[in-house]
Amino acid sequence: MFRVTREIHFCYGHRLLNYAGKCRHLHGHNGKAVITLEAADLDRRGMVVDFSDIKNLLGNWINETLDHKMLLHRDDPLIPELRRLGEAFVPLDCNPTAENIARLIYEQARCFGLPVVAVTLWETESSYATYAPATNTDNAMATHAHHATATACAPACAPATETDHAPAVNTDKTR
Ligand SMILES: [Zn+2]
Repeated sequence: MFRVTREIHFCYGHRLLNYAGKCRHLHGHNGKAVITLEAADLDRRGMVVDFSDIKNLLGNWINETLDHKMLLHRDDPLIPELRRLGEAFVPLDCNPTAENIARLIYEQARCFGLPVVAVTLWETESSYATYAPATNTDNAMATHAHHATATACAPACAPATETDHAPAVNTDKTR
């Protein structure tokens, strides 16, 4: 097996609902997503995936969807106020923990057809969470679906699209 890993840095704010610690308050992180892709065979260039493909697909999605935004549970009572003020936020179907953000990025990578096997989100320099599926069955499929379009893909914890500030999950932007 060959593995390649790409780091993508971005900034995000969040707070956790139903949580007694200090993360229940609004705060931000300089996050680092570490995306690992795997393939049994290399393509004719000798690559698992071109590093720049990861950057162009997933990096742009993170930049446009998550970077410099407040990631909030969709039930967060702050949302109506942020909407009123025209602030950027991303409502999620889950608490915006490092674990769930890692899973969201993983699933979006799958949507792009990248043969991702794990995503680690470094929330601070000393704390990180990793999402990887329980089995490798789906990854074989992802390898074959490399560069497939992602029109029907919907990550389990996808950003909602109900507001002007929430970007669509399945962006086709590949600038
Ligand atoms: Zn935090």
